[in-house]
Amino acid sequence: MRLVAGATTDVGRVREGNEDSFLVDDRLRLFAVADGMGGHRAGEVASATALEALRAAVASGRPIEGAVEAANAAVHAKAADDPELDGMGTTLVAAVAFDDGLLLVGHVGDSRAYLVRSDELQQLTEDHSLVEELVRDGRLTPEQAVVHPQRSIITRALGIEPDVVVDTYPVELELGDRVLLCTDGLTTMVRPTDIARVLRRESDPQRAADALVDAANDAGGEDNVTAIVIAVREGDEPAPPPPPPAEEIAAVDAAQHVGSEPEPEAPSGSDRTRRALRGAGRVARFAVPILLVTVVAFGAVGWYARRTYYVGLARGHVTIFKGVPGGLLGWDPTVDRRTAIAAAALTEAQRADLADGHRFSTRSGADAYVVRVGRDAKRRTATTSTTLQVPAATSTSAPAHP
Ligand code: MN
Repeated sequence: MRLVAGATTDVGRVREGNEDSFLVDDRLRLFAVADGMGGHRAGEVASATALEALRAAVASGRPIEGAVEAANAAVHAKAADDPELDGMGTTLVAAVAFDDGLLLVGHVGDSRAYLVRSDELQQLTEDHSLVEELVRDGRLTPEQAVVHPQRSIITRALGIEPDVVVDTYPVELELGDRVLLCTDGLTTMVRPTDIARVLRRESDPQRAADALVDAANDAGGEDNVTAIVIAVREGDEPAPPPPPPAEEIAAVDAAQHVGSEPEPEAPSGSDRTRRALRGAGRVARFAVPILLVTVVAFGAVGWYARRTYYVGLARGHVTIFKGVPGGLLGWDPTVDRRTAIAAAALTEAQRADLADGHRFSTRSGADAYVVRVGRDAKRRTATTSTTLQVPAATSTSAPAHP
């Protein structure tokens, strides 16, 4: 499947500056919106800083939860460094997609992610806001929440504390799905039914994002408003694969060099000694390529051994390892992340699968697998805890917000 995204941000009709930011990175398949706060330019700095840090963390292989934590740390550190930015913070809702169609959403604050499937709009994220918490506790009705004077007060944001709790939601994307990420400047101005109507009318992601922002402005535009619409289409991702590492290129060059030598076979040790006596020129012609191939091959094995991942069991828990099971030519695997998923919560088949290590070429592949295993375990036993907060209900997606 292929993802096509459109995005728009607008200052709105009332505010003087736009403190919202958005990120669309087609190569990383990473999409995010952030709604900054803190007055003057602090809000702008907060949302932009969070998205920069998020992108860097995802690019370096961190899973979405850790990447949002990194964004929190970056905003917090920047606020601590500059008295003008003291107290700044930002919401963040980020989505990263994988080859197999899994989308992971990471969320803090009151910006939202929605899934549109078969023209039905489902809210994926639960707001960390005062009124939504009161609604969830049954102390306010959803209708009262919409007009509540304190509806913009949020109970969780990035940058306020050194640590933050990140909610994550897995979604298995299907062809024809659309995902909407937006700030509260849209959802406080435009009702969900009207958001759904705009999305039904506009199939083009960019035109849909523009139309949603227009709708918020038509309704008064009281806040900055940002929308990203991501469409799941048929076909392959046009993005080229990342370039191979330098060692691999060097290995190919060296192999070609050896192949072009007139002598058909690599010389034995004694041959090499004899030839070496004939002159420095021949030593260079043989010894250098052989040494180079050996060094490069060792480096390539090390690179391979250290760049791949597997999921296994350690201390009775599902654990992500960096390396290959059992190690390779002295390159031993290391623990990359311990999860809270107990081996006891797995099925027999899953335990057997993990006993020898289930291998992945990327960290995100391993993460996605762990999310799935955790969700399976949670579905089977209500008491099993996982490191990821997953929606409790249906098999394919998060439940719609009440
Ligand atoms: Mn806002």
